[in-house]
Amino acid sequence: MECIFCKIAAGELPAKKVFESEHVVAFEDIHKVAPVHVLVIPKVHRQSLLEVNPNDVDLLSGVQEAIRAVIKDTGIEQTGFRVITNSGAAAGQTVFHLHFHVIGGRELAMTLA
Ligand code: AMP
Ligand code: ZN
Repeated sequence: MECIFCKIAAGELPAKKVFESEHVVAFEDIHKVAPVHVLVIPKVHRQSLLEVNPNDVDLLSGVQEAIRAVIKDTGIEQTGFRVITNSGAAAGQTVFHLHFHVIGGRELAMTLA
């Protein structure tokens, strides 16, 4: 298995983990674009949102729980934050294991693209 995020989820590659549950791991992005930049991933491999299926209820509620924990623990719950998932290379996806960027801790530009 050559997916780096599967390896991080399995503990086979180091990462600064900030949250972990049965279905999800959250860890700091190695190239932070803001003071808080955490990636939330499901432990099971899904390439992107396109691969999430109706049975992935635990996965999605786990992602929501992790995002809530990260924003509360870092204080960006109060100051504002953004959650992004890139799907496909044309959208900027470079790691093909579903991940949600949780970004905050500075003023974020008013842009969607
Ligand atoms: P994306 O471009 O949406 O696919 O985002 C991939 C993100 O993963 C980028 O922000 C990278 O900085 C980050 N990244 C890649 N490898 C690692 C790693 N080993 N540990 C933490 N973050 C990583
Ligand atoms: Zn994977």
